[in-house]
Amino acid sequence: MSTPSHSWDVARPTSPGRFGWSPRPAPMLDSVRTGILGGTFDPIHIAHLHAGETALYGADLDRVLFMPAGEPWQKGDRALTPVGQRLEMTRLAIDGVERFEVDEREVHRDGPTYTVDTLLSFPAGEELFLILGADAALGLPTWHRWETILERARILVVPRPGTDLSLITEVVPTARLLDMAALDVSSTLIRSMAAEGRPYRFLVPPQVHTYIEKTGLYTQFGSGDRVVLANDQEESP
Ligand code: ATP
Ligand code: MG
Repeated sequence: MSTPSHSWDVARPTSPGRFGWSPRPAPMLDSVRTGILGGTFDPIHIAHLHAGETALYGADLDRVLFMPAGEPWQKGDRALTPVGQRLEMTRLAIDGVERFEVDEREVHRDGPTYTVDTLLSFPAGEELFLILGADAALGLPTWHRWETILERARILVVPRPGTDLSLITEVVPTARLLDMAALDVSSTLIRSMAAEGRPYRFLVPPQVHTYIEKTGLYTQFGSGDRVVLANDQEESP
């Protein structure tokens, strides 16, 4: 048995699967271990889903909740897609995926949405794990009542290209880094590709791709938001 990397990272009685681990059996008497992956999901993409599954297995969770953020209460830099459509894409993305659930508790909340309030709205006995991309994890100390966040939930971090992972444990010493293939994908990139007619089909689940194409959701995406890939080359006239 390997040595736990954290005191809370206790080995659980799961039978090893093909890759040496398997989801733990359905919870019985002990508490539910719930992962929470929040985001604007505009749109939800493969890195969100892969992060959720990495956490599910890597931290031996019972379920992962995908939690779309509600409408911004202050005008941000960019208008988000209405929450109903972001919620619909999230639902389509995880439809039929075992142990993945959509959680709507942030969707209908008025005023500022604080993660701390979301975490405190769960039953006290439920073990919570906040799943964050490395970029989001670096900002954690700026979040409202972040010490309370750390008291209520354990922090799981997945790598994200462009963010130095060695900084994470400096900023959040109790964070656990999960081993995951870093995927250089973002919703911004997908919106940009959809707007320009570039192929992005396999960066989102098929149902989400169909939804975006059918609704023409991102055809009006601002040209100022164009994402240039590192290996993009401007064509000479
Ligand atoms: P946008 O480009 O609109 O900001 P995004 O791709 O960053 O979208 P969000 O909804 O902002 O997606 O992110 C939700 C969560 O998913 C955050 O914790 C973020 O760090 C994480 N995340 C998003 N994309 C990745 C990725 N490629 N690798 C790892 N984590 C990711
Ligand atoms: Mg983001």
